[in-house]
Amino acid sequence: MPGEAQQTPTGAAAPLTRAELEQLWRREHWMSWLQIAAMAGFLLAAVVSQRGAAAAALASPLLVGAVALLGVGAVLQVLTRCPRCLTPLRGKILRMLPDKCPRCGIDFPRKP
Ligand SMILES: [Zn+2]
Repeated sequence: MPGEAQQTPTGAAAPLTRAELEQLWRREHWMSWLQIAAMAGFLLAAVVSQRGAAAAALASPLLVGAVALLGVGAVLQVLTRCPRCLTPLRGKILRMLPDKCPRCGIDFPRKP
């Protein structure tokens, strides 16, 4: 049986340090909470707008707040780059970090 056929790129970057990972995890954590808070704001605005004209006046500030939270989250995501090759990291909703860098291939392990 032949050995593992996986190629190990020569000159691969060293694994990320704990400090680099902590920073990425912290940003991902904030991103997730900003998105959750924004979704809660949208939901609350929808519920409040159904409760009469007086309560509906609260819906607009809630919507503005939710959009602001989404905006801050989007800026945070745009500013997050691979510590090795500085490629912008695009993730999915509620999960900012990919498993590895799409450019240099360095692994981004999950927070234990
Ligand atoms: Zn990279």
